[in-house]
Amino acid sequence: LTKHFPIRRRLRTLFAAQRAVHAVEQVDLALRKGRVTAMVGESGSGKSTVARLMAQLVRQTDGQVLLHGEPVRTGGRRFRAYCRRVQMVFQDPFASLNPIHTVRYHLTRALRIHRSETSAEELLTRVALTPPERFLSKFPHELSGGQRQRVAIARALAAGPEALLADEPVSMLDVSIRLGVLNLLRDLRDRLDLAILYITHDIASARYFADEVLVLYAGQVVEGGSGEAVTQRAAHPYTRLLIASAPDPDRIAGTEAEVTDAGGGEPPSLIEPPAGCRFHPRCPHAMARCELEAPPRLPVESNGDGPHWAACWLYDANTVEAG
Ligand code: SF4
Ligand code: MG
Repeated sequence: LTKHFPIRRRLRTLFAAQRAVHAVEQVDLALRKGRVTAMVGESGSGKSTVARLMAQLVRQTDGQVLLHGEPVRTGGRRFRAYCRRVQMVFQDPFASLNPIHTVRYHLTRALRIHRSETSAEELLTRVALTPPERFLSKFPHELSGGQRQRVAIARALAAGPEALLADEPVSMLDVSIRLGVLNLLRDLRDRLDLAILYITHDIASARYFADEVLVLYAGQVVEGGSGEAVTQRAAHPYTRLLIASAPDPDRIAGTEAEVTDAGGGEPPSLIEPPAGCRFHPRCPHAMARCELEAPPRLPVESNGDGPHWAACWLYDANTVEAG
């Protein structure tokens, strides 16, 4: 998937001849039933845009979204079926719930839209808000942040989805309750055989929670592999910096602050992204070649826990690193 956002004419003069923000560039990923795929990146790396593309809330500039191998086309009955199967959970549960309506209203409305036989009580039980009667007549402001996010998840489940796209689902919650919500998602993965995309800036929580981890940098996936491989044996220099600059990589569902200065330096402008490897201006291993040619996905020596790759010239057999 590729997404370029056009720059408005009025602003264009400020950015010379550039006409678009290159937010997402050839991101290729597959979600699978019963698995959590984490997408880790700094703010501005394009991770929310990937989720919105997959949910088809925005249209891609290039590429396609497939469901069971079939290209998804917008509009029509089949598109509505797609939207039912792929549900989003947003970062801020307070913003995604309507303050003037009760929990019961939110859930029964979603159930009615999706013509589901399930009851609101059953949905609340699935997200461990029990006994359900205690929560049905509550308004969003009467719930804690964690309870609100559980209601938002329950509402997503009303559609009977096959996939949940969770965009930083715990980053606005108190540190003390994050783990509970992540455990709930993991539990739903197992009980409902859901495919989950877990978007986060917190690599420690990805390690705890995900079967597969993808690292996004400046709109491109730079490393992928099992959670174990990517977090314990990080291969890409950017992933290593991300881990080194995480306040406490061992803490689960950890940090308050977003990592914005991994290893020093800022994420690059996506209006004029650096040529070659987009990470080269910040990379301690950059070679002449890195400024010229974008590296392809190259396999990293694996520990028998599935494919592990990095988009980095260091893993090219023909590269001899100086220094
Ligand atoms: Fe660094 Fe070059 Fe690898 Fe990019 S391709 S991460 S600049 S070594
Ligand atoms: Mg975001």
